[in-house]
Amino acid sequence: MKRNIILMGPPGAGKGTLAKQLKESLNLVHISTGDMFREAIKEGTKLGLLAASYINHGDLVPDEVTIGLVKERLSKSDCANGFLLDGFPRTLPQAVALQEMSKEISRDIEVVINLECDNAELVRRISGRRVCRNCGAPYHVETMKPKVEGVCDLCGGELYQRKDDNEEALKVRLGHYVAETKPLLEFYEKLNLLSSFDSLVGKEALFETVKKYLDK
Ligand code: ADP
Ligand code: ZN
Repeated sequence: MKRNIILMGPPGAGKGTLAKQLKESLNLVHISTGDMFREAIKEGTKLGLLAASYINHGDLVPDEVTIGLVKERLSKSDCANGFLLDGFPRTLPQAVALQEMSKEISRDIEVVINLECDNAELVRRISGRRVCRNCGAPYHVETMKPKVEGVCDLCGGELYQRKDDNEEALKVRLGHYVAETKPLLEFYEKLNLLSSFDSLVGKEALFETVKKYLDK
């Protein structure tokens, strides 16, 4: 069973949704850099102020900031049983730093799960996305409705639309994905860690397929 996992794929491919499912069933720590930045923004910390100036326009937070944050998180003892990296790494320097830090703390990456999704579907998913303000759980106004409108099924938190889930910021995010993140697929292919999955099959089917794959 592989337990030190990276989830990759464009914004809207379903990384966050899959991460929540895997976290529940396999008892892994979910490390979402996007969630960590949004938490810092909510709390109004120095990191939050810095991150907001990038995130709200769809730009990437500088590497040194993001790398430091992940290093600190990955070193905590709760990650010993396995972790899901969601939204990190997103650039080549981040991937190189991750290889180094995971060796340093003896938590080698065992598999990279890449979610594939076409552009039209990404736009549809992101424009209808709602997120729990409290726990970060993702919903969709048409295809993943909560039981009670505007309320998170998992924690009762308020659902909202992210500031960067608009057409303009999404264009910028997809641009960064193609230019900076997509090349990482080759990086992990060379390390023999990459496995790609079609995210259009639906969230339950995808979850079952990935779980079976990790079990091998
Ligand atoms: P999505 O996968 O839907 O684009 P995330 O929640 O993963 O959303 O990330 C939201 C934003 O947070 C990104 O657009 C970026 O500004 C910032 N961010 C998250 N992870 C990273 C990272 N590894 N490096 C730089 N910026 C990041
Ligand atoms: Zn919630």
